[in-house]
Amino acid sequence: MSETILGILGGGQLGSMLSMAAKKLNIKTVIYSDDQDAPAQNFCDEFIFGSYKDNNQILDFVKKVNVITYEFENIPFDTLNEINKSKTVLPKPSVNRLIQHRLAEKDFVNKLNIRTTRYVSVEKKSDLNSLGDFLPGILKTTTMGYDGKGQYPIKNLNDINNLKIDFSKEYVLEKLVKLKKEISVIITRFSNNKYEIYEPIENTHKDQILRKSKIPADINNKLFEQSKKWSIQISEELKYIGTLCVEFFIDRNDNLYVNEIAPRVHNSGHLTINAFNVSQFENHVRAVCSLEQIPLKKLHNAEMINLIGEQISAYRESLNLEENQFFFDYHKKEIKDKRKMGHLTILR
Ligand code: ADP
Ligand code: MG
Repeated sequence: MSETILGILGGGQLGSMLSMAAKKLNIKTVIYSDDQDAPAQNFCDEFIFGSYKDNNQILDFVKKVNVITYEFENIPFDTLNEINKSKTVLPKPSVNRLIQHRLAEKDFVNKLNIRTTRYVSVEKKSDLNSLGDFLPGILKTTTMGYDGKGQYPIKNLNDINNLKIDFSKEYVLEKLVKLKKEISVIITRFSNNKYEIYEPIENTHKDQILRKSKIPADINNKLFEQSKKWSIQISEELKYIGTLCVEFFIDRNDNLYVNEIAPRVHNSGHLTINAFNVSQFENHVRAVCSLEQIPLKKLHNAEMINLIGEQISAYRESLNLEENQFFFDYHKKEIKDKRKMGHLTILR
């Protein structure tokens, strides 16, 4: 094969936006998803529907592409590892395994002398009785969580008995940080000390779901520099190739904590499509397909608003957008509560 064909595991909106970025670079995409209605099938060159554990289907997919990436982190490690034996998977499967496990992820970050929230492993219900020191806190499943799914806020020990928690899973209990702000840093690493990094993005969440992102983040210079420095350090340590996002908390005393790492493009980076010369999606495709690295330039300040559930309807009906507004519909078949249906970016 002379031309590069990029395989993407996962077919959500991130897959759609990766496919659009690839198209711009003349790279064909084949998407593999276990969702028959995956929205990204509208944007890729070829779509394959199948389970992430169906080895034969996966093999067919692998034959069609030169390099493979993924747009969500909960792909089984065994699947990524098998694929990696015949074609390059980027970011490396071992990186994904580390980051998809909240406990391993936090241990890794702490070993780099980078601050995380205080946390402790919880394997059974009785473990919680001696953990009053971590309350108020949030109990999170160690794997498979996103958009606040698999999370239980716990104020005091009585809550534990009232909550229906499935203890066949393993958890991490995290002490609640008194949040002043949340920010994220998106970085695309190409190879040793070669990367493009976006400025910190300020994020607003409601019910543990991202609602708004904006640049510039309203933070002091120390936090601006420290969050970038830690993100570079994390991506270097992982020898990461592609786009990665580090989510941070800032407490009321301006202490910075790493919340979590996403080994992929990220919702808070959607504004990079309109606000920078190269988006997080294009940078990811450039890095995993070994294309040229282009120096990043910010073109505009910007704000991105997620359209959740029914919020999309008004935009679908009337598109009276100003010149500085950009509407993205993810073309999901069904409108569901708490489901990210689209977003709006406003350039400032
Ligand atoms: P997800 O994987 O669902 O994104 P996160 O761990 O990032 O899970 O949590 C989602 C949101 O919940 C965070 O962005 C933050 O707003 C809130 N949150 C989670 N953990 C804490 C914590 N320890 N202290 C304060 N807020 C938290
Ligand atoms: Mg998060």
